[in-house]
Amino acid sequence: MTKWVYRFDEARAAERAAGAEGLRALLGGKGAGLFDMTSAGFPVPPGFTITTEACRVFQQTRKLPKGLWGQVLAAMRRVERDSGRQFGDPANPLLVSCRSGAKFSMPGMMNTILNIGLNDATTHGLAQLTSNPRFSFDSYRRLIEMFGGTVFGLEDELFEAPLAEYKARRGYKVDTEMSAGDWDSMVAAYKDVIRKRTGKEFPQDVHQQLELATKAVFESWNGKRAVDYRNKEGISHDLGTAVNIVTMVFGNMGQDSGTGVAFTRDPSTGAKTIYGDYLLNAQGEDVVAGTRNTQSIENLGREMPEVYKRFLGITDKLEKHYRDMQDVEFTIERGRLWMLQTRNGKRTATAAIRIAVDMANERLISRDEAVQRVTPDHVDALLHPQFDGSEKSSAEKAGRLVAKGVNASPGAAVGQVYFDADLAEAKGKGEKQDVIMVRPFTKPDDVHGMLAARGILTSEGGATSHAAVVARQFGIPCVVGASIIKIDLSRRTMSVGEAVVREGEWISVDGTTGEVFLGKLGTVQPNLEEQHELMTLLGWADDVCGRKGARTAPASWPTRGLQVWANADYPKDARRARAYGAVGIGLCRTEHMFFEAERLPIVQRMILASTTDDRTKALSELLPFQRQDFDGLFEAMDGYPVIIRLIDPPLHEFMPSEETLLEEVITMRVKGEKEGLEEKENLLRSVRGMHESNPMLGMRGVRLSIYMPEIVEMQVRAIFEAAADCAGRGIVVKPEVMIPLTGTVRELEWIQPRLERIATAVMQEKGIEFDYKFGTMIEIPRAAVTAAEVARLAEFFSFGTNDLTQMTFGYSRDDAERNFLITYQEQKILDKNPFQTIDREGVGRLMEWAIREGRQTRPGLEVGICGEHGGDPDSIEWCHLIGNNYVSCSPFRVPIARLAAAHAVLKHGPHVARTASRRSQLGRPRRGPSRKSARTAKARRNA
Ligand code: PEP
Ligand code: MG
Repeated sequence: MTKWVYRFDEARAAERAAGAEGLRALLGGKGAGLFDMTSAGFPVPPGFTITTEACRVFQQTRKLPKGLWGQVLAAMRRVERDSGRQFGDPANPLLVSCRSGAKFSMPGMMNTILNIGLNDATTHGLAQLTSNPRFSFDSYRRLIEMFGGTVFGLEDELFEAPLAEYKARRGYKVDTEMSAGDWDSMVAAYKDVIRKRTGKEFPQDVHQQLELATKAVFESWNGKRAVDYRNKEGISHDLGTAVNIVTMVFGNMGQDSGTGVAFTRDPSTGAKTIYGDYLLNAQGEDVVAGTRNTQSIENLGREMPEVYKRFLGITDKLEKHYRDMQDVEFTIERGRLWMLQTRNGKRTATAAIRIAVDMANERLISRDEAVQRVTPDHVDALLHPQFDGSEKSSAEKAGRLVAKGVNASPGAAVGQVYFDADLAEAKGKGEKQDVIMVRPFTKPDDVHGMLAARGILTSEGGATSHAAVVARQFGIPCVVGASIIKIDLSRRTMSVGEAVVREGEWISVDGTTGEVFLGKLGTVQPNLEEQHELMTLLGWADDVCGRKGARTAPASWPTRGLQVWANADYPKDARRARAYGAVGIGLCRTEHMFFEAERLPIVQRMILASTTDDRTKALSELLPFQRQDFDGLFEAMDGYPVIIRLIDPPLHEFMPSEETLLEEVITMRVKGEKEGLEEKENLLRSVRGMHESNPMLGMRGVRLSIYMPEIVEMQVRAIFEAAADCAGRGIVVKPEVMIPLTGTVRELEWIQPRLERIATAVMQEKGIEFDYKFGTMIEIPRAAVTAAEVARLAEFFSFGTNDLTQMTFGYSRDDAERNFLITYQEQKILDKNPFQTIDREGVGRLMEWAIREGRQTRPGLEVGICGEHGGDPDSIEWCHLIGNNYVSCSPFRVPIARLAAAHAVLKHGPHVARTASRRSQLGRPRRGPSRKSARTAKARRNA
């Protein structure tokens, strides 16, 4: 018979059933943590887990599986024995919680019900037993409230309103002023709400309570917020949640009781200090809801030194065991510490990087593991803008710094204020506004609005409140607990003293410092060199890629990992690229330089020239500009290869638009202006003459070079003159000339020898020699298919995957993304946008073919990619697999690409170093999957 239920002390049986790797999938992350802690002898309240397998059956049949309830009852009897209490016994009542817990942590996204086992009779029993009727009635009303929401689907407001009304009538400000009698009255009021709204009584049968709660937690797997969360995080919808039934321990039994949540390191900065909040005389949700102002965890050391010491001992062991930062929940019941949960803690990008580097330095994990634990998104987040320091100080001087709260999630956010999640979503997602969502505190129901916001601001709550945890997880800048701010939800305003901000007005929120400013503040790019941990980690990533034998490959193919080069047109971009770790320029789009103000008229003159002489004259004026551009690039990339692409776009792009000219001509005619009219009309005629129906498939790339070779001849001369001058100054130059949009090798046969002759002529003129290459972009499917022939001439290939995608799919790269591509993704015709992530089955296969064919003709052929895909982690993995030498991307994406290239090696390469001890720190053999972060596991799953 299937075993649906495992007691926390049945770790071995669960391991036998699921295998070490499957344990987390069977019991959920929370369950696995409770089993681990129980086995280690840590103080965990007795309890058991109903498996995710049972949830999956429930999702299909809408019933609890056969045999499950018998197993629950048997487990409950053991819990009764271990706890010395009886479920439903007024004289000595056992209370339990019913908690969700899926394989991958989904904080706050599913339901939990506390205090199950309380009814009219047991509440009185508990009051007598504890001599604390206030606590008993408070616990009972909490149960009814949670039951109302979770089992009967009633809105929170239905319970919040009568409580607020009651408190107002009595003149109470906070809950702690409520007496036992007051809570008893609320019990009656809450029961009334349930009766009126559902036509049912709140169940007095405790076993019925347990059954309804279990089903409701299973149901919450498919609640809207859980589904949204899984979609966002890429978690499969088929996994189901486990249900943990845990003996209740109470943090609200007086001043010697309390409850809290803590992280073993600072989840915001990654610093190695315990970080968290607690409250005396409170229950768990009081801390996370952010509705009461909490105490910092260090304070517990002063209030309860013994408990605190024990707590630190346990958390230290837990971190060593899981080899990752832990997020724990605990309760102190009358001076006794209980551990309720441990899991790998969510963290900001800054913290993720720091923790990974610190843990490797502490030898808790290997450097390879540190590299694996940081995601490209983490690196991306660190490269995002921060507030400009000088703007901040002048805003402060001008009195625009109005509040300071807890810096819950770093980063700069500027946006318009909206006071509820639905509006924040409508404005942010729907109208593409920059939104700051402002609330007194947030709840799981607010997540959709938070995800659509640039920043989050709350006036209540602490570092572990819901808003803080969610914001950190998704990298949204967030300030919480800015208590000076008064939010008036009915008037739709927030105010600080005299200053009033209305809905839709702008504020700036600094999640790094906790500051809130009125109006908009400018931002600046962060300085990568100052981010020491990130630099260290990227250095380790480069070491991974640099390992010989990282790839197994045929002779003459690269066996190290990918190199990362950058697309850069100007020396300043090249310098940034180098600072970010690029080891080459994979694409310099020379035509960008033609657009500069002083050059464009010369370019236009060159295009309109009616004689070769006129054209040559204009080109000779352009040559010094180009030479200067290339000189700067070679100097910036001293010692590294620089690929310069010859002119690519159709010439009409350099001319004024036909519509503008026509409008000007008509205006001049209407006004009777004669001067200059004839030239305008001639220009219009020429521009009309250049018109093409499909310019992207027209006179561009190598076709243009063959049609009008003087331009590229000038460019090649400029490249080699600049290279020669630089070489003369002692700079190591490695020029590579790239011919765009080749479709047949005959194009190269026509153009390349002419250009090579210029190259050798310049070197002879200058009396200097250096290595150089002539190669081509692979952007046209025909070039990819005939790569064996193309490689006869081309000394390198660079995949121009923007055009290659356009031409392979036949989708216009300029139009598809705003038209049918969105529908295609929604309808699952395409899984991903092929202009962002390489379509492995089509475009990718062409690339694979081209490399193999190319290297057969020319062993050792250098292959890169310079389309936008060169900075996309999934596409980088593909380039690793098919044997590229390098990827080239925008300078800002270079750090991300370095990490992604290392991830590809670690995922596929033959050598994955694992230096850190794999032995358990808890005194028993470790079980594999629990130690891997959810993110790493997710990355694997999605692969
Ligand atoms: C490409 O097509 O991928 C490419 C890099 O060239 P461009 O985007 O300039 O056409
Ligand atoms: Mg192109």
